[in-house]
Amino acid sequence: MGHRYLNSVGARGETTPPMLCIVVPCYNEEEVLPQSSRVLAHVVTSLVSAGKASPESRVLFVDDGSHDATWDIIRGLNGDDHVFAGIKLAHNEGHQRALYAGLMEALDLGCDVSVSIDADLQDDVDVIERMVDKYQAGAEIVYGVRDNRDTDTAFKRKSAESYYRLMRRLGTEVVYNSADFRLMSSRALVALSQYGEANLFLRGIVPSLGFKTDTVTYARKERLAGESKYPLNKMVGLAVEGITSFSTKPMRAVTAVGLASMLFAIAMLVYAIASWASGHAVAGWGSLMVSIWLVGGLVMTALGITGEYVGKAYLETKRRPRYIVEEELD
Ligand code: UDP
Ligand code: MG
Repeated sequence: MGHRYLNSVGARGETTPPMLCIVVPCYNEEEVLPQSSRVLAHVVTSLVSAGKASPESRVLFVDDGSHDATWDIIRGLNGDDHVFAGIKLAHNEGHQRALYAGLMEALDLGCDVSVSIDADLQDDVDVIERMVDKYQAGAEIVYGVRDNRDTDTAFKRKSAESYYRLMRRLGTEVVYNSADFRLMSSRALVALSQYGEANLFLRGIVPSLGFKTDTVTYARKERLAGESKYPLNKMVGLAVEGITSFSTKPMRAVTAVGLASMLFAIAMLVYAIASWASGHAVAGWGSLMVSIWLVGGLVMTALGITGEYVGKAYLETKRRPRYIVEEELD
């Protein structure tokens, strides 16, 4: 697949503006959709009238298996205005997969350039124009980078910071303070489509694609309405995903700790033999209990982390589809 999309890339620098597709994953977003759809449609129409986007440009909603009126709203929007397109996933697959589904649909719609953004419009839609300018200047991927984290709780700020640092140390390229608000050209999307893994961590995969990249900074706002669809457990899940999808270093670290503990055990053995030979009876109970628990804990940690990777390999070998589209509005 793919080659037919590549033709449009050469259009850059030519007179026709690119077809833009704003991709919006939505999970139970009935509270924000009426407002955010208006805002996004306005972004598209003003880019079209500025000659920066072609009149075929779209706003594409991905309903990630919502349980509320999200899909009805999307269907209504599509009926009222052709700028709105939508796909409905048959099941809640999570933000990353929903976004991926949307990006692949954007390719199918024939777009030249995609911009992904959350439905709650916490990200500043005004910088989309600057993203498109950078695309016109030659960038294939443009990251939206937050210039501060004032709207986050201290906990989220701290945890995000140490997480980014950890990812870097583990050897994964991540763009600091950037989430999934980014522009990707069809060329970058075609490259992304070749990634076969079922576990998607786009914030790690996209930087690993390569290509000419650029950034725009913006201030992130509060959610328009409704609650975060990213409770702590989903956030931790994404964090673990990010690490285990890209790095086998944790496994090696555990192996190193295991080896060190073995050396420690040998040293203990030598000490025990020496004290036995010198006639000092060792009570033994304390050291015995400590070593049993220590080694037991180490083995379990090692097994747990190994299991994480084995489980991952197991899931990947199944090569299940990452999402199933139930309905499409063109
Ligand atoms: N989202 C999704 N599927 C999910 C959870 C979230 O498509 O299972 C979407 C959600 O509708 C929103 C985006 O992902 O458009 C980011 O979610 P949210 O704004 O709740 O996260 P936060 O900004 O609090 O990190
Ligand atoms: Mg949000």
